[in-house]
Amino acid sequence: MISKETIINRFIGYVTIDTESDPTSNTTPSTEKQWNLANKLVDELKTIGMEDVTIDENAYIMATLPSNVSHEVPTIGFISHFDTSPDFTGANVNPQIIEEYDGKDIVLNEAEDIVLSPDYFEDLLLYKGQTLITTDGTTLLGADDKAGICEIISAMEYLIKNPQIKHGNIRVGFTPDEEIGRGAHKFDVEKFGAEWAYTMDGSQIGELEYENFNAAGAVVTVKGKIVHPGYAKGKMINSMYIAQEFINSLPRLETPEHTSGYEGFFHLCAIKGEVEKTTLEYIIRDHDRGHFEARKEVMKKLTAELNSQYGREVISTEIKDQYYNMKEKVEPVMHIVDIAEQAMLDLGIKPLIKAIRGGTDGSQLSYMGLPCPNIFAGGHNFHGRYEYVPVESMIKATQVICKIAEITAQV
Ligand SMILES: [Zn+2]
Repeated sequence: MISKETIINRFIGYVTIDTESDPTSNTTPSTEKQWNLANKLVDELKTIGMEDVTIDENAYIMATLPSNVSHEVPTIGFISHFDTSPDFTGANVNPQIIEEYDGKDIVLNEAEDIVLSPDYFEDLLLYKGQTLITTDGTTLLGADDKAGICEIISAMEYLIKNPQIKHGNIRVGFTPDEEIGRGAHKFDVEKFGAEWAYTMDGSQIGELEYENFNAAGAVVTVKGKIVHPGYAKGKMINSMYIAQEFINSLPRLETPEHTSGYEGFFHLCAIKGEVEKTTLEYIIRDHDRGHFEARKEVMKKLTAELNSQYGREVISTEIKDQYYNMKEKVEPVMHIVDIAEQAMLDLGIKPLIKAIRGGTDGSQLSYMGLPCPNIFAGGHNFHGRYEYVPVESMIKATQVICKIAEITAQV
């Protein structure tokens, strides 16, 4: 089987290369440094014996493991992203390896008193006795999603070295800029040529996801009128008070801090205000498409009501859809989820099938014609200094990939 050392060395080789993406950049990849890892991955794919290894001008990488059976098998794909989140620095990552984790506090950084503790992160206790890879407390780790890349490459290498395992054509895709919402934008689904794919970008071992939010962003602009405060009676319109009415008219309990599971929300992300002008930035999220549309309607109605109340257009609301629930695209081909579930069961992994309270590259890809559920990559506490990944989970994810390839060839 795949050795721990192979996984650890490969993973560390990736996370020590800084690939932080940048939402303010207009280029693809958004940061030049993402090429450093991208080029290394291309070399590695060639070295392990993958075919048709390509990298395009936007750093999207694709490769093929050709079928080793004579009967027809659907071409499937595995996808992950090599950028890391701009939420926290990914420069000079210095991974710590904790062998046989004892279930106690892990001191990440003695000097700065940064501790990874199961008192706060209970999930740690799931991995007692296992090998954990953590940060040194000063950076993120980048298991999101370099764990996914490590698993896909390790699985391909394993299948190449073990031709007795029968599989169809397997396509591999690595993307830049997922963390800034652009991982799927320039993904050439036609060139990829798979019937379906899986993103290896989930967290805890067992996670299998094919439902995500429907998502929109709203910008509410309120116009006021500035007059000298001493002479303002009957003349001044303070846009901040109107904005406040708008905020208070939305249900206070339908917010991220009061919802879970399948409950949707309005999230006020930012307020910028002065007397003359106030802008509110919202995001709207709901798994149910009908409820999602209704939420957008609520905002539009509220806007119209406030305008009629003030007798002129004091407020305008611009709403833009961002992505949709992949469930709509995956349910008609539900066997692709069943295969992943079966692979986990065969390997003794308990599948955790739940709705994502967010989006993935897969949700966009699903609407671009490539149905794409999400599978665990093993890491926890993404986008921050407490990020960690159990090596055993990475090995299991690698096995899941091989097993999915095997089961698909049997159908
Ligand atoms: Zn990710």
